[in-house]
Amino acid sequence: MSTVYEVEHLHQPDGWLSPGYVEIGEDGVIVSVSGARPPERSVERLNGFGVPGLSNLHSHAFQRALAGRTEFVTTARAEDNLWTWRKEMYRMVDRLTPEDYEAIGALVYLEMLQFGMTAVCEFHYVHHLPGGGAHANPAEMSDRLIAAAAETGLGMTMLPVLYAHGGIGKPLEATQKRFAHSVDAYLKLIETLHARRAAHPNLNVGMALHSLRAVTPDEVRAALAGMKAIDPGARLHIHVSETTHEVAEVEAGLGARPVQWLLDNIGLGPDWCLVHATHLDTSEIAGLAASGAVAGLCPLTEATMGDGFFPLVEYHAAGGAFGIGTDSHYGASTAAELRMLECGKRLELRRRNVIARPDRAHAEREVHSGRVLFDTALAGGEQASAQGGGGLIAGRRADMVMLDAGSLPLLGHGPQTVLDAWILGGPQNPVRDVMVAGNWVIRDGRHPREAAIREAYRRTMARLVR
Ligand SMILES: [Zn+2]
Repeated sequence: MSTVYEVEHLHQPDGWLSPGYVEIGEDGVIVSVSGARPPERSVERLNGFGVPGLSNLHSHAFQRALAGRTEFVTTARAEDNLWTWRKEMYRMVDRLTPEDYEAIGALVYLEMLQFGMTAVCEFHYVHHLPGGGAHANPAEMSDRLIAAAAETGLGMTMLPVLYAHGGIGKPLEATQKRFAHSVDAYLKLIETLHARRAAHPNLNVGMALHSLRAVTPDEVRAALAGMKAIDPGARLHIHVSETTHEVAEVEAGLGARPVQWLLDNIGLGPDWCLVHATHLDTSEIAGLAASGAVAGLCPLTEATMGDGFFPLVEYHAAGGAFGIGTDSHYGASTAAELRMLECGKRLELRRRNVIARPDRAHAEREVHSGRVLFDTALAGGEQASAQGGGGLIAGRRADMVMLDAGSLPLLGHGPQTVLDAWILGGPQNPVRDVMVAGNWVIRDGRHPREAAIREAYRRTMARLVR
């Protein structure tokens, strides 16, 4: 038997229904959406604003454990950047156990749900034992993250990472041996994880190439061919152009800037997600936008790393798709990430409302920044994760987030400005209820596993941090 909800204000691709009636099947898929109450059906009333759950398109779950732990300098580390941060990250990798990986994953996945995300693309690269030996179960670490997502109820697009070299023409460093696979062993892992989908209906599996620094052109081509043979529709993710150092290394090693090299040598399309893509020249901006690939922006991580700022305005004007990732998890908040993106650009350009552009066909229409940011990240997140959600419309997975109209940021707001108020307004989190595939995983702000997940994380950190 399906369930019908009467939602006070229901987000739709072209506006809002107030109220909106959404019918959800037992399979967790939306059967119908209407502004009229279905006859002869009982309905459950939901007050507030019902918006689609967002897919977080980039996460390294374990890096949550480093948040707030690398914000200092010493004489030896006076010049701090992504590469010096990475040394600290590797010190933690050297000590991580499968139990730690799962406990940290569960905490950060819980946080994502609490801030209104209903799925994550997990770019997972700590595969093996310290030193590079295989676990008895070669998929042990992947399975730990799948278990963490299952414990919380978050949808997951698992992206095991192919990592083979310590840089172009460079051997792996000692820590990196935990990350490494041959292409054949990597494709075996993908096949193993595909089989996990039978027990995990909200699990998808795609491919991640760490970067053009860590995988050679021949390995890129072999991995892509193998992945396409397993699943022609698989999503393909890669870190690209996060720092000027990386751009220079790829240019010296492969003869072109990273995004240009991918456009010219591999071909990009809507199945690709290019994570960061921070440093693009004019030709790369146009080429990436025209390819239909998603740019995987991680604004708070990029800001805290001091990476640089994505050419948001030029790329968006060229019709480029983007979504939001929380990457190293300086927060897990949709609103905080999108606020960083929009407001960072406002500071740089010294003007307001940079992402929204006037609707020339309807001169009087107000185009709201919060709405444009949310809807663009929603579409980009779904494109990069292929979870089946991405909108409260018939045929999509029922991933719905109820925002509390009585929360401080939303107090007094109606549908026209509610997304501006959430994303660009005050810091209090207005997310009250979260549904994934028709199941409520958070109600009235409470998750049934929260206390246990926090305690497991606390125990892990007490052991891990020395
Ligand atoms: Zn990353």
